[in-house]
Amino acid sequence: MIRKAIFPGCYIQGKGVLSNFGGIEELEKKRIFILATPTAVKKIIPEHLSSWKRICDVTYEAFGGACTWDEIERVRGIVEKDAYDVIIGMGGGKAIDTARVVARQLSVNYIAAPTIAATDAPTASACVVYNNEGSVVDYFTTSNPDYVLVDTRVIAEAPVRFLVSGMGDALSTWFEAEACDRSHFKNVSGGYNLRAVMSLAHTCYQTLLTYGKAAKIACENNIVSPALEYIVEANTLLSGVGFESGGLSSAHGIHDCLCNLEGSHAYYHGEKVAFGTLAGLFLEARPQAMIDEVYGFCRSVGLPTTLAGIGLGGVTDPELHAAIQPVFDNKESYLHHVRFDLTPEGIIEALRMADGVGRMG
Ligand SMILES: [Zn+2]
Repeated sequence: MIRKAIFPGCYIQGKGVLSNFGGIEELEKKRIFILATPTAVKKIIPEHLSSWKRICDVTYEAFGGACTWDEIERVRGIVEKDAYDVIIGMGGGKAIDTARVVARQLSVNYIAAPTIAATDAPTASACVVYNNEGSVVDYFTTSNPDYVLVDTRVIAEAPVRFLVSGMGDALSTWFEAEACDRSHFKNVSGGYNLRAVMSLAHTCYQTLLTYGKAAKIACENNIVSPALEYIVEANTLLSGVGFESGGLSSAHGIHDCLCNLEGSHAYYHGEKVAFGTLAGLFLEARPQAMIDEVYGFCRSVGLPTTLAGIGLGGVTDPELHAAIQPVFDNKESYLHHVRFDLTPEGIIEALRMADGVGRMG
């Protein structure tokens, strides 16, 4: 049995670390290209540009808004004109993915600098490429970032819904890693789970339970408290390494099903993954004490616990069936990483149970 885990080269997190690029000595006097979301161009770059220019030669470009092959080509064209030493993706997951693909295509060092903690994508090697209509056209892995640079002051000033959504994505980590480990499914990196990663995934879950609510309150008040810092680490590093090297299972599989329903489109990845995690509790016959614990956590931070909470209040069983079937038919789907034979009807029952318990309050 081959066990495998993959990690970013270096993870730096702290209040204000963006002001000097985390003190990364490798960047001194180098040529740096930043692909930044419009929000980062407006708020973060003007604040830091002069201090960055004392360290290195910085050029930046506004991200076009979607990680499409057209956008990757556009950014690559700009980067290729000059010989840059390092590419930084700054913003949310899509800007980070676009910069990651360009950096790897050109064999240039890559830094992920997330400005929100909404998903675990920044630490990962996986890239998701969309078409202009917003559907996924490619999903592949490259390599993990050379550095991940997370400024907790920037995260604390971002809308709280991003942080809570990140907690929803992180919530699935332990359950999915445990399901893969128990059932001997390979993780996303292509090997079986190391004990190191199982430990890290469990720490992710415990951190959410212990510090989630306090971190939400800190973010609502733009305070970089220790609880906020622990949750940013859980959402970004523990969840990121946890999903790639611990594996995905029913929570992300159910997320993929829910994405096939129009009503859920206004809801974030982590919000739908959180509801997928709740449904997974029933699919896997988890004990009542654990069910109470997970629902208690979701309620304490404001993650959805009902179908209505993800825009699917009136969804019918035939609609759910139609959304589940294509994911179910894909034998490669993470949906199948559970310990027993699954049916679309069983998934619908688990979703209805999750909703029923959620509606009880
Ligand atoms: Zn996820």
